[in-house]
Amino acid sequence: MSQSIEAQRDALVERLRVVNDLHSAAAVLEWDQMVYMPPEGSEGRGRQLATLQRLAHEHATDLEIGRLLDALEPWAETLPFDDDDAALVRVARRDYERVIQVPSSFAAELAEHVTEAYDLWASARPANDFALVRDSLERTLEMSHRYADFFPGYEHPADPLIDEEDYGMKASSVRVLFDELEARLRPLVNAITAQAPADDSCLHRHFPETDQRRFSEKVIKAFGYDFDRGRQDKTLHPFETRFAAGDVRITTRFDENDLSSALFSTLHESGHAMYEQGVALRLDGTPLGHGTSAGVHESQSRTWENIVGRSRGFWEHYYPELQATFPGVLDDVSVDAFYRAVNKVQRSLIRTEADEVTYNLHVIIRFGLELEMLEGKLAVRDLPEVWRARYQEAIGVSSPTETNGVLQDVHWFAGLIGGSFQGYTLGNILSAQFYDAALAAHPSIPNEIGQGQFGTLHDWLRDNIYQHGSKFTTSELVARATGGPLSIDPYIAYLTRKYGDLYGLTF
Ligand code: ZN
Repeated sequence: MSQSIEAQRDALVERLRVVNDLHSAAAVLEWDQMVYMPPEGSEGRGRQLATLQRLAHEHATDLEIGRLLDALEPWAETLPFDDDDAALVRVARRDYERVIQVPSSFAAELAEHVTEAYDLWASARPANDFALVRDSLERTLEMSHRYADFFPGYEHPADPLIDEEDYGMKASSVRVLFDELEARLRPLVNAITAQAPADDSCLHRHFPETDQRRFSEKVIKAFGYDFDRGRQDKTLHPFETRFAAGDVRITTRFDENDLSSALFSTLHESGHAMYEQGVALRLDGTPLGHGTSAGVHESQSRTWENIVGRSRGFWEHYYPELQATFPGVLDDVSVDAFYRAVNKVQRSLIRTEADEVTYNLHVIIRFGLELEMLEGKLAVRDLPEVWRARYQEAIGVSSPTETNGVLQDVHWFAGLIGGSFQGYTLGNILSAQFYDAALAAHPSIPNEIGQGQFGTLHDWLRDNIYQHGSKFTTSELVARATGGPLSIDPYIAYLTRKYGDLYGLTF
């Protein structure tokens, strides 16, 4: 007895929904771990998460999914490219081929190794002790090679990991993009840092937590983050997480002596969350029901954090309200001085605290080091020294400690080496390219931002990016939304315009 095509499609969706629900349940446990769980809870939580991940892996590799995909593909190919079912079969096939390559024994071994590597890093970082993580990092590198070997035919061992985060990208294509970006950023960085640095001391006065929270939540509500389908909680490292279409949460941390920390991280995470809240409801629970790639995701967080949240128009509207939120604290600071403070550019050591102009240099350094480690050109034991040399060369500063050097980021200690950094810079590049396309369609957007109105921008992003979830790859989405291929030109133009104006420079 053969089933109708629709019945087989429904059977596929049914199975994929089970995988999705197991991952979502794990995400709730992870969120709780970061937000509420008492310290002694970690052992039980680790076991519960491992159980859910194992079940999810078993369901995701079920041979019946492969059989259903075989049966559905000839039909899906007759459908229009942007049809939901065509996209479902396309993306489910991609996910299935990837997940069946990696034996569950490797996944378990990796999970166990990462738990240990993370604990070592958490001790090594404050202790400034790279030796503590060296052996573990060597094992991570070795496992990264083994992982790549599950995908024979790759050009570079980083490619399978890059492909997973930013489908369609390779080490070679990212490298070309980053080389050009770096060459065009350097003159900008040199010209700006030759000027007197902006005074950002006004951001380090006393700002009570409850008032910070009230202000930033008011802003993201105005952006369009829906608190009926989300909430914000406190954590150590801010993040966004999706459990379902109706439950997309963000977290933040407050520093009463640093206004920008919680404020800009809240704007950032709200951008990730609005992307997830904007995915079409009918895609929820399927492989299409979430953002399409690390790069596109980061483009949305950076749009709301930087292009909107660090713009002059935004602060011309919101600064009086910010002053009123903290009575007396900012009375002596003009909106112009405040705007300069939140856009201070400096040669600095820490990626996550870097300004818009130098940020990508931090990413490009890490990306280059990842590739060299994977190519066998850079030994783990030489990493701290080479890290310092690259910082000196590319940014002009280098850290005397490993704490603020090679140990600053969690990525290489919480997963494999490769694939985890390029998305940040791709996101910056894409944010400007998407924003330009939105402006071309609606030239009134900057004026609206200056009046605290964000609906036109939000609607454009929802229609052109958010609603599609994972239906289209990054390059397909860029082509549809902007009419061309990915380009660094809009991003360089954005930085040149903004910082040229701020620092009175002509380029
Ligand atoms: Zn982000």
